[in-house]
Amino acid sequence: MKNENLSVVVGAGLAGSAAARVLAESGIRVVVIEKLSHVAGHCHDMKNEEGITVHTYGPHIFHTNNREVWQFVNRFADFNYYQHRVLSYADGRMIPFPINRDTIAEVFGLTLSTNEVRTFLSEEVARSQFSNPPRNFRDAVVSQVGERLYELFFKNYTIKQWERDPELLSPEIARRIPVRENRDSRYFTDKYQGIPSEGYTRMIERMLDHPNIEVRLSTDYFDIVEELGASMTVYTGPLDRYFGYEYGELEYRSLELEFRTFDQEFYQPVATVNYPNDYDWTRITEFKHFLGEMSKRTTVCFEYPKSSGEPYYIVMSDDNLEKREKYMKNVAELEATGKVLFIGRLAEYKYYNMDQVIAESLSKTQQWLQAK
Ligand code: UDP
Repeated sequence: MKNENLSVVVGAGLAGSAAARVLAESGIRVVVIEKLSHVAGHCHDMKNEEGITVHTYGPHIFHTNNREVWQFVNRFADFNYYQHRVLSYADGRMIPFPINRDTIAEVFGLTLSTNEVRTFLSEEVARSQFSNPPRNFRDAVVSQVGERLYELFFKNYTIKQWERDPELLSPEIARRIPVRENRDSRYFTDKYQGIPSEGYTRMIERMLDHPNIEVRLSTDYFDIVEELGASMTVYTGPLDRYFGYEYGELEYRSLELEFRTFDQEFYQPVATVNYPNDYDWTRITEFKHFLGEMSKRTTVCFEYPKSSGEPYYIVMSDDNLEKREKYMKNVAELEATGKVLFIGRLAEYKYYNMDQVIAESLSKTQQWLQAK
């Protein structure tokens, strides 16, 4: 017997928790099943012994232009209005990144006006080889900044991160990194940006704190799916697993995160320094910058990309995206029945940011409620 007023949400990360909250507030009983031993999924964080809030699965910076999403997260957290800044360690120097007027000044020793930067970049592009329209990640970057800046900041970082030739990756990845002619050196320019003052975990705990929501941790949904008897499921786990790998396994990338505490107040001038060309790590993040936490010592995280482990990233290559298309046909059929919704990075196999996951979760559950 299906219980008409019971929904199951698979996964207590951002996608699942936002969906659970919307359903619970409309009077539906929700059981949230989480494989990990904690809520908040990959945006889990906790204070360490230094009193510094560290992000268990690597740095997460919240940014959005979506007012509805911003208002939603602000119901469950106060935000520290942090603006993310990144330096890239290239040619033995820490250089502002993404590419802006100050980057050009630092790399080429040229002091240019905004208009001159535009001309400079178009000249760089004009003497470079690439396909237009861009067919891959390399083309997409070179078509904006030319080969020299591509080689310095993008080529080797991308090879380290994805362990493949940038020409075999989707041009879409390049859309994550802007190119600016002005001096704005922020990583993101979204209207709303910040880090939850008491952490992401606390924010998610508050989202899940509702009389209609029950959370079961350390539980694999696939072990108990039969006994739940729910009339509707929100699935946020890996897409291929749901369908028993029918069209083959999708590829995910993971990270080895090395947390280190140093006996000094600061390790680096900004929260994140990228290392495109040197060392085996892609970037180092120093957590105390996010919340302005004060301590004599400091904790940082080195990220080493790897192919196995917790699935963090989808891999945007042709073969994976072709497989995704097949799985998404199954998804469309199932979602049309009103019995299952697929939401989030893993379940939709999409390189979503946190705000996009929440936007998707709010809109899919709200649409489902309206159709009900
Ligand atoms: N990227 C790069 N150099 C950098 C930063 C990023 O080539 O210094 C490329 C790289 O392919 C990376 C992608 O842009 O995987 C997206 O970068 P982002 O910082 O958005 O990665 P995330 O924070 O999602 O790991």
